[in-house]
Amino acid sequence: MVLTKLFRLDALHLDPRAVEEICRDVLSGKLVVFPTETVYGLGASIYTPEAVRRIYTAKNRPMDNPLIIHISRREHLQEVAAHIPDTAWRIVEVAWPGPLTLVLKKGRAVPPEASAGLPTAAIRMPAHPVAEKLIDCTGPVAAPSANISGRPSPTTGHHVLVDMFGRADIIVDAGETLFGIESTIVDVSVEPPRLLRPGAMPIERITEILGVEIVVTDTSRGYTEAEKALAPGMKYRHYAPKTPLILVEGSGPRGLVEVVEEIRREGKRVAVIVSRENLKLYQGVADRVVAVGSIENLFEVAKNLFIALRELDRFGVDVAVSESFPERGIGLAVMNRLRKASTKIIRLNS
Ligand code: AMP
Ligand code: MG
Repeated sequence: MVLTKLFRLDALHLDPRAVEEICRDVLSGKLVVFPTETVYGLGASIYTPEAVRRIYTAKNRPMDNPLIIHISRREHLQEVAAHIPDTAWRIVEVAWPGPLTLVLKKGRAVPPEASAGLPTAAIRMPAHPVAEKLIDCTGPVAAPSANISGRPSPTTGHHVLVDMFGRADIIVDAGETLFGIESTIVDVSVEPPRLLRPGAMPIERITEILGVEIVVTDTSRGYTEAEKALAPGMKYRHYAPKTPLILVEGSGPRGLVEVVEEIRREGKRVAVIVSRENLKLYQGVADRVVAVGSIENLFEVAKNLFIALRELDRFGVDVAVSESFPERGIGLAVMNRLRKASTKIIRLNS
């Protein structure tokens, strides 16, 4: 257990003395929880590899899962990337700062702890005043999301207090994050570029900027070979509530109502995660109903998803069941997270 220093900052009126203090601490090897426009990160300076290693312990994260290098200026790229292909430059010009992470051949300044020994590094430039000012002062910061490994990423000050108080040296609370879902990760060290994780920046937009198709695999959509091989309920879960979660795919709301009714006949209490449009259909059918946003506004759904997944555990239900959302734009990221968070996926024919 470490003593955690807590800062509450107003992102639009940043106290420069607070930023300086945090910067000094980080350069001396402290771990900081800081807000970005996607989710909160748990960061350490890349110049203090011992602190980077502590990130894994603080999160219970397996050492073979590399971190993202956060930078605030183009010049940092020369330190953390070895080769930057034209495709990368083209997209950097348009998308940074913003919720897009690029995988590139790693530069000399990246310690093996940050890249889990890989020859590549995941790099992004966050668009958040706190992250930007802090990294301007510290230089590149290695950070994964600031949750305990396997849990939904933290998107509010409350989430980070719950997960990281007593584990990180510093917590900077600047309120809710804007997108509420992680960055999109694209590997541009290979041709053609490959989507590794859908996220806040829609893949359609990246394709448009690049002018080339990006490889989207079933794994990047949230299905993995390893998961398919394991028995339902046994697979490794990510972004997961403690409550078992069933995702219903390939049907309209009718199918989901039947799934809920069947579970309730077994005497179990059920919560459902749904769109606002379908809210009424489940009232009186499920024990708890959580509307995460409108089907017409998938940014709203993404922003509320992790809040809803964390809230589920407070309802005291036995099972949660989620609707599917359209896999366009940021909806691809929503479905990726739901698939990974679920203990079981039921596919119905519509
Ligand atoms: P998080 O920010 O918690 O989502 O964790 C960082 C993500 O970046 C993880 O999903 C990593 O697998 C991914 N990542 C980091 N470095 C690399 C890399 N060199 N190649 C592929 N993925 C990476
Ligand atoms: Mg994470």
